[in-house]
This record gives sequence, C-alpha cells and structure tokens, in this order.
Amino acid sequence: METYADLLTAIAPTSGKTRTLLDPATGEAVGDAPVHGVEDLERAVSAAVAAQPAWAALGHEARSAALLKAADAVERNAEELARLLSREQGKPLNGPNARFEVGACAAWLRATATTELAPETVVDDGATHAEIHYRPIGVVGAIGPWNWPMMITVWQIAPALRMGNAVVVKPSEYTPLSVLALVNVINRELPEGLLSVICGGREVGARLSEHPAIGKIMFTGSTATGKAIIKSSAGTVKRLTLELGGNDAGIVLPDADPKAIAEDLFWGAFINTGQTCAALKRLYVHEDIYAEVCEALTAVAAAVPMGVGLDEANVLGPLQNKAQYDIVARLVEAARDSGATVLLGGDPKTGQPGYFYPTTLVADIDNDNPLVAEEQFGPALPIIKYSSVDDAVAMANALDVGLGASVWSADLDAARSVAARLQSGTVWINKHGAIDPRIPFGGAKQSGYGLEFGVEGLKSLGVPQVING
Ligand code: NAD
Repeated sequence: METYADLLTAIAPTSGKTRTLLDPATGEAVGDAPVHGVEDLERAVSAAVAAQPAWAALGHEARSAALLKAADAVERNAEELARLLSREQGKPLNGPNARFEVGACAAWLRATATTELAPETVVDDGATHAEIHYRPIGVVGAIGPWNWPMMITVWQIAPALRMGNAVVVKPSEYTPLSVLALVNVINRELPEGLLSVICGGREVGARLSEHPAIGKIMFTGSTATGKAIIKSSAGTVKRLTLELGGNDAGIVLPDADPKAIAEDLFWGAFINTGQTCAALKRLYVHEDIYAEVCEALTAVAAAVPMGVGLDEANVLGPLQNKAQYDIVARLVEAARDSGATVLLGGDPKTGQPGYFYPTTLVADIDNDNPLVAEEQFGPALPIIKYSSVDDAVAMANALDVGLGASVWSADLDAARSVAARLQSGTVWINKHGAIDPRIPFGGAKQSGYGLEFGVEGLKSLGVPQVING
C-alpha cells in the first residue's frame, strides 16, 4: 500500500460512487476518487460561504501565517505527494517534474504569503484623498487542468485565500487524486469548510461557473472551455482569470550559438513531456544556422531518458491520457505525410502499456502544417526555417493565441527589439517558460486574460474599493 492513501479523504459523494484512476505509464490502478455531483458542490459552496467571513476578519497577517504553515505541511509530505502525482499524472519523479512541482507548490504558498499589498493612494492634493483597497470577493471557484495539477491549484488557491476568500476547487477529471491529496495537506492548517475539492466532471465545472454564490472563477485549461465559462458566468457577472491554451513561438536569430542554446531550447519545449501551456511549441530558426540548430537539438533530445515515472533515471514520461496521445500521433503523421523530415522519434512502439510517444523533432516543415498551427501539447517539436526576421515575427504572430514566446540571440538589444514586436503575454530571452512567483504571468489574444503571481495576482483576487474622502 502506498503511503499516500491516507491523504485521499474526501467529502462523501451523494452518488456513493468512486472511480479508479489508472497510471498512464503502466495502466495500474493508482487509487479511487469520489464521483461528486452538483448536490455535493452545493454542500461545499454552503460550507465555504459560512467559513469565509471569519477567515476574512482574521486579516492579512494571520492568513499569511496559515499559508506559511501550509507550505511547511506540503514540504513535510513532499515525497508522498510527488509519488502520487507521478503515478496519476505520469510525470517522472526527477527532472523538472513531480518533485519539482511539489517544491513549487511550497514556494508559491510562501511567496504568496509574503507579498505585500498596501492600499494605493491615487490622489492626495490637499483637497482630495483617494485610496484603492482590495477587499475579499467571497467564494472563489478554481477549475484546473491535468498537466500541472498541484502547482496550478496552488496558483489559484493561494492568492484567493491570502485575500480573504474561501475556495471550492474542481480538479480535472484526469487528475483528481493529486489535487485531493494536496488540498488535504493544506487543509490541516485551515479552518473547516474554507477550502474544499469537488471531484466532478464538466457539469460540476459548469455549475460552479454560473453559481450565484461564487464571485470569481480562476480557470486554467483550454481556450474552448474558457469560452464556455465566459458564457456560463455572464448571468452573475463573475470576475474571471482565464489562463488558456497557447502555441508559443521561439525565434532563433542568426547570431545565436546553436550548441550553447540547444539544452535550454530542449527543456523549453519538452518540459513535462511537452504538456505545458507555455512550452515552446513552434521553433523558427534562421537559415544561416538552421542545420546546426537541428543537429545540436537532436543530439540533446536523443540523450534524454523517457519511461515510467517512479524509475529515478527517467525525466520524460508518457502522455497523460489517450486523447492527448492521439492528438500528438495525428499531428506528427500529418507532418510526415506532407513531406517534412522527422529528425528524431515519430515511431511510437505498439503493444506496450502506457501512452508513451517518443521525443520527436520535425524539420523542413511549412508554417501552415497542422503540427505548427495547432497546439500539440506533447513531445513533438516542429522546426521552421526562416530567412528574414520580419517573416519570423509575422509567422509567430499569425495565430489567435499568445501566451508566451521567446527570442534567442547573443545580442540582448536585438533580442529585445524583436520581443517588443511579438504578440504574447510574456516574451523570454534566451530561455522559454521560466516562471517566478514575483513576476506576473498571463496571456494575450485568445490565451486568456487576467494576471497571476506577484502583487498583480493578489489584486486580481480582491474587489477594488475606492475610499474617497
Ligand atoms: P480542459 O479545458 O479540457 O479542462 C480544464 C478543466 O475545465 C477541467 O477541470 C474540466 O473538467 C473543466 N471543464 C470542462 N468543461 C467545462 C465547462 N463547460 N465549464 C466549466 N468547467 C469545465 O483543459 P485540459 O485539457 O485539462 O488542459 C489542457 C489545456 O489547458 C491546454 O490547452 C493548455 O494549453 C491549457 N493550459 C493553460 C495554462 C495557462 O496557464 N495558460 C496552463 C495549463 C494548461
């Protein structure tokens, strides 16, 4: 029996039913999740409404102290949490994966607890004194995806709690156990009813989004679901933070050193086996160094071990689910059929357990190929050749999403001037996907709206109130 079994207690589901989650690497049972429905959601919302005023009344200092204790609790249980996450999500223990994700949960709890948010004086001219304060919203709904289930839950709940709100969490139906266990650990430091998890499907998410007692939805997931949430939340004019899909471009300028950047390019694209919202998903390389970049990236990629997550040697894992595996396989096939060159991978083994798709690099591919134009969300990177920087910028900006982007160059000024022309929420220079709890993160275009992290992230979990006088 795994040591995490006692972390999986949950609100008893009205249905009386449970569902067994299977390890995407082996097909073995990981554990049972309750099958919650909208009746269970009502109970969680009522408990949250009852618990929230006393929590808000505690003030920032006491709430921050509770979040710091929650961070300690996560660290005390880090190994059990990482093993559960590895088995349910598929990501390996090592590398920038399960242990890293649990560590990030503790780091984000601490950073959120210690970020200062003072009232802002906007006018003070002798005649008028006006200040902006940020008051609690009430009850926040947190709806999350399956790729970084623990870390993204913390991104949603930590600022919500810090700002004096209660939270009802609706995890992805693919990774409920990871979120349940994490919240159980955090809940040891919080009042009863303030934070709960309802393990339901999309009907529970939809009800949460329209619920009159919910003041804000924090949502991370696909653009299609984000649009559904905008519609279902309209009747109650809910506040929304939407972190949606992306198809991040990276542009390698002709002066970059292929060997020096190859490893960072690799991890920018393949972190979490490519199942990351702000991963590098389209790489544009200048024709002068195209062959060298392809060669250097292939050499790095070929040496990175993929396999079952609990094996300490592996740092890449399976796709989390069959649907995502099928998307990646379809897109690579479409690329091959179009005449593109598969430099590495593209040949999944059949007849073995697990949704493993090999690390795949595709060169000599057109910009309108589906592997470039659609979000692959898996371990397959298209590398597109360009001859003018204007063309590369135009191709990078051509899609209707804009989460992150990156520019790679030895000349920081040149990189910054290209960065200024890219339509995305973040542009990284000589790295891709680096996140930091002090630095705001959010999308442009259909990658969503609202910022997470830092002071901006705290503000978005409060209701701005102007005191004028
Ligand atoms: P998804 O949209 O399918 O599901 C996300 C969550 O929404 C799940 O909990 C699901 O049950 C719920 N849901 C489904 N329908 C709903 C509805 N009508 N109303 C309310 N909730 C509903 O996304 P996914 O497949 O789990 O995640 C992958 C996607 O998420 C990718 O596109 C990825 O780029 C994106 N993502 C974005 C970020 C970011 O920060 N921008 C981070 C991680 C993932």
